[in-house]
Amino acid sequence: MHIYADYAATAPLRREALEAMTPWLTDGYGNASSIYRVAREAKRALEDARRSAAASLGVLPEEVYFTSGGTESDNWALKGALELGARQGDEPRERRRHLVTTAIEHPAILQTAQWLERQGMDLTILPVDEAGLVSPERAAAAVGGDTQLVSVMHANNEIGTIQPIEDIFRAVKAKNPQTLCHTDAVQSAGHIPVPWEGADLMSLSAHKMGGPKGIGALVVRRGVRLPAFMHGGGHERGRRSGTENVAGAAGFAAALATGAAEMEREAARLSALRDRLIAALLRIPYSRLTGHPVRRLPGSVSVVFECVEGESLVLGLDMNGVSASSGSACSSGSLDPSHVLLAIGLPHEIAHGSVRFTLGGDISETAVDRIADITARVVAERRAMSPVWDEKAQRPIPFGT
Ligand SMILES: *Cc1c(COP(=O)(O)O)cnc(C)c1O
Repeated sequence: MHIYADYAATAPLRREALEAMTPWLTDGYGNASSIYRVAREAKRALEDARRSAAASLGVLPEEVYFTSGGTESDNWALKGALELGARQGDEPRERRRHLVTTAIEHPAILQTAQWLERQGMDLTILPVDEAGLVSPERAAAAVGGDTQLVSVMHANNEIGTIQPIEDIFRAVKAKNPQTLCHTDAVQSAGHIPVPWEGADLMSLSAHKMGGPKGIGALVVRRGVRLPAFMHGGGHERGRRSGTENVAGAAGFAAALATGAAEMEREAARLSALRDRLIAALLRIPYSRLTGHPVRRLPGSVSVVFECVEGESLVLGLDMNGVSASSGSACSSGSLDPSHVLLAIGLPHEIAHGSVRFTLGGDISETAVDRIADITARVVAERRAMSPVWDEKAQRPIPFGT
């Protein structure tokens, strides 16, 4: 039996999404920007998808811009907002060239922020507490007259912590009403309600909620004059050029609608399975939970085990039919511990022993119990081979012996 427990990396395509996509991958091949019938049908499907996605999200259809996914949406939000701020007003002192973000963002945000800093923008990276929470007071304190954008993710992909984005953005706007607020809601949208009322920009990705890979959206609040990021034929009302991905948009909208319809039931079911798995894993000696104990995504279980290499544990789990991940997939292959685990204050050697299980779909109690049993066995095996584990005493070898 194979158990897939890496839903935060990607979710399998939902049946509803596949069914919504099929017509536009087959007979409905028209280019949505042309004027004859097969094209008009595709255009109608695209606009239906936009209306449906907007309704699921509680936004206006004209606020939804389809992109190629979360990474593009994050790049567009940051680069577009800073471009807008840097050319603001007639006087240099009216320009806003300051960006504020957090230490636990996805690389699509952090790498983009660092690139902007190299282009001459000012960057502040907010710390988080040991549960991974950003403080609204600290966020507001970082905001000045020149702050153009504050970007805070809604839920973290590695440790599952859910930020109080409504409080953070309220505090930011109280300090400077001109400052724009962006949230990367890739991990939360379609899974839990996203309270984005105080935000101006929001990034989404279809494949993290059962839609296809390679499509997502940036929601741009009406009135925010975000400049285009992709230049070309003027698609998406001139703001995001590129022949429209009609099938992708239809699949994305279907995944969002199904997610919204099942949200309450799924969140309750997955939270119970999550807590069951956490309890079982914490019975393994020298383990601890990372992220917030309560404010966390329904399917998100992240733990660290002392004297075990996370990567080696993931390979051991895979040999036993369990797909999980260690840190983030984006940084695996590198031997640096996750920036998120370091930001919550874990020492390097402990951060190395991290494993993340993210649940979804039809995962059962039996499957969760099996994950816990297999993990306990693999952790024990790896520790038995570890130079820093005392097999007889069943504990880490004390430092200095
Ligand atoms: C996966 C992910 C992204 C990137 O989305 P893609 O559609 O894969 O480019 C961005 N932010 C977060 C929090 C993610 O988990």
